[in-house]
Amino acid sequence: MKKGVILVLLSFVLAIPLFGVKHTAQAATNFTDVGASHRAMKEIYYLADGGIAKGASAAEFSPNKRVTRAEAATFIGRALQLDGTKRVTTFKDVGSGMFASGYIQSAAEKGILSGYSDKSFHPYQEVTRGEMAVMISKAFGYAYDNKLSGAANALKSRGIAQGKLDGSFGAEELIIRADFSVFLARAINPDFRLKENTVSFKDARWINVDSLNIRTGPSDVYPKVGAVKQDQQVLSAYKVGSWNYIKYGSIEGFVHGAYLRNTAEANNAGNVDPRIAKEVIVLDPGHGGSDPGAAGYGIREKDVVLDTGLKVNNLFKQTPFQVRMTRSTDKYVSLSGRVDYAKSVGADAFISIHANAFNGSANGIETYFYNAAYSNPNVDDSKLLATKIQNRLLTALNLSNRGVKHGNFHVIRENTMPAVLTELGFIDNKGDNDKLRSDYWRNAAAKAIYYGTLDYYKAKGYEVDALYDVAK
Ligand SMILES: [Zn+2]
Repeated sequence: MKKGVILVLLSFVLAIPLFGVKHTAQAATNFTDVGASHRAMKEIYYLADGGIAKGASAAEFSPNKRVTRAEAATFIGRALQLDGTKRVTTFKDVGSGMFASGYIQSAAEKGILSGYSDKSFHPYQEVTRGEMAVMISKAFGYAYDNKLSGAANALKSRGIAQGKLDGSFGAEELIIRADFSVFLARAINPDFRLKENTVSFKDARWINVDSLNIRTGPSDVYPKVGAVKQDQQVLSAYKVGSWNYIKYGSIEGFVHGAYLRNTAEANNAGNVDPRIAKEVIVLDPGHGGSDPGAAGYGIREKDVVLDTGLKVNNLFKQTPFQVRMTRSTDKYVSLSGRVDYAKSVGADAFISIHANAFNGSANGIETYFYNAAYSNPNVDDSKLLATKIQNRLLTALNLSNRGVKHGNFHVIRENTMPAVLTELGFIDNKGDNDKLRSDYWRNAAAKAIYYGTLDYYKAKGYEVDALYDVAK
């Protein structure tokens, strides 16, 4: 539930500069060794302004220095917004204190990088052009036939790399930071590529938020080049981490994928009970900002529950329900602030999302309601909602059942609507953590919370059958 420890706070503070640094046009990054005439100037500053590439020191980029495997993992990890929190890794030569340990472990988990058969990673080994081509192919999902030549062709065909003058790719040559930056920038943003029209905008998506900013790169620190309004259609070409590269009219750029949906109709639901449109659901991802919640194996409760909450929100956005969140970003909200908010928007159901921690061996899912009507008068409905969500989570996540319980928690006690608090699993337990860290299982958890809420309304006599299709 909480258990914030100093170590967690410390790692959080250290992680901030990755994306928290603002490089505005007025205060752009400036490396003394990358001047206006440097051949990789645009690409290096594009990556540096987004926090993806950093100098070897504050003042110098060291463009001619060779790239180590640890640095490559860090550049790619930042581009894909992988979890860079320094932590224990599965490699015997990458300790938890090493600067790149978080990105190396995340990239290994995603299959972007692999180690050697003796469980070593060789973090300080220098990267060849061929290895770089394979890393970028894996990171961006290019088909490459598991061969260096396939990866070289994948990059060449997209205008990301070109062969040497003698026609070879130079796969065995070591790569320097300037060239690695050029290839990575081209992979991220087609504006840098050597050819036109290397991406196809084939996937229709619709905007699921009032207004969505389109940016020049895959993070909030990149400048805005336009915006697109609710329910408008965009065409998506590919993803870089959580961000989609899209086209809207004549504008191309990045939008955050959490605000896109796959169907034209926000309500593609059919004959849904008209009373549903008056129902206000408040989603409450626990913790946030200065309060990380529990932590384990390099991930933090506040991040897990926010991501899961945003996914639940995205499902409800496709229905007539009115859905609100106590927080939709990494910010601190007090417990009373959460309750006050739910009351102020006239919430009809309140769902608080948490992850558990105890002693490393405790595991499983539990969902709480408050069982004394003198405080929250909705005991029966709270218990019903808790039961429906708990049952769906058990089926979806296949973790052990700790039950539906009375819990004396502020947000379910002080609220005056049906209110539940669900603990998705134990973040400090390896088995539960493996699911909590995974995008696949967070989607499964989000669907379960969504289905559970529909089950609750159905049990209360509302016609909601058509809304189950939304999550398919
Ligand atoms: Zn919690």
